[in-house]
Amino acid sequence: MIDIHTHSKLSHDGKFSIPEMVAEAENKGLRYYAITEHLDRDYRYFFRLRFCKQLNVDKYRREREAFLKDYVSENGMYVAFGIEAGHSKKSMRDTKRTLKGEKLDFVINSIHTIAGGEDPYTKVYYTRNKEKLDAYNKYLDAVYESLFVPYDYQVVGHIGYVIRYAPFEDISICTPEFHAKIDDILKEIVSQDKTIEINTRIRKEGYNQLPEDYILKRFKELGGTKVAYASDAHRPEEIAGKYDIGVEAAKKAGFEYWTVYKDRQPVKMEF
Ligand SMILES: [Zn+2]
Ligand SMILES: [Zn+2]
Repeated sequence: MIDIHTHSKLSHDGKFSIPEMVAEAENKGLRYYAITEHLDRDYRYFFRLRFCKQLNVDKYRREREAFLKDYVSENGMYVAFGIEAGHSKKSMRDTKRTLKGEKLDFVINSIHTIAGGEDPYTKVYYTRNKEKLDAYNKYLDAVYESLFVPYDYQVVGHIGYVIRYAPFEDISICTPEFHAKIDDILKEIVSQDKTIEINTRIRKEGYNQLPEDYILKRFKELGGTKVAYASDAHRPEEIAGKYDIGVEAAKKAGFEYWTVYKDRQPVKMEF
């Protein structure tokens, strides 16, 4: 098993230390395990979200260096350290400055906040964007914009995030009215040769992972080759928790292996 996306207590919504998280990954027999703390500088531009605890980048660097100094895996598991950077236009220069010079295995580029509506997680998004067409188009535009950030990234995070908290009867973002925007995003990801994560942190009936099957299949059709399993775990027991669901989604879309990153270089791994 692998897992490219988890959080320790250095992230505002995590509760467990790096050694606790790694110990459980080791215990489960993973071959590759990544901690990817939240860097949500975009939160600073929203009144309520700006009070959220920000990542202490220096502390994260000290902790991962101290950890790696003494760490020897019993099973040959590779422990990767990365960052999940939340993009917004207003914060991208701050994010760029913050990431400069950081020695990381990779960066996940995610959209959590959308201008005019905060983070859909807070529910304000759907009180301000009541129509599905409007709410989802704004999200997809933000994802497209995020592909051109001025800093290095390897993975595009949880495409379709906006559906996690959507109040609609049919929450799918893959209905025909969104196909053109989805294609634009996927073509750009293919041309930049980035990896799409298959993120299993979703608790909506009928939805096993983000992106939905349609998007994964379309990514493959358009020439995409790189995908990776991501639990988005915030607790040890969630690490690789729905790994089989991730493998199934990847296979169904026609992918044959995972792509993970070591020191920003892609490495193929078997399912
Ligand atoms: Zn995220
Ligand atoms: Zn995350």
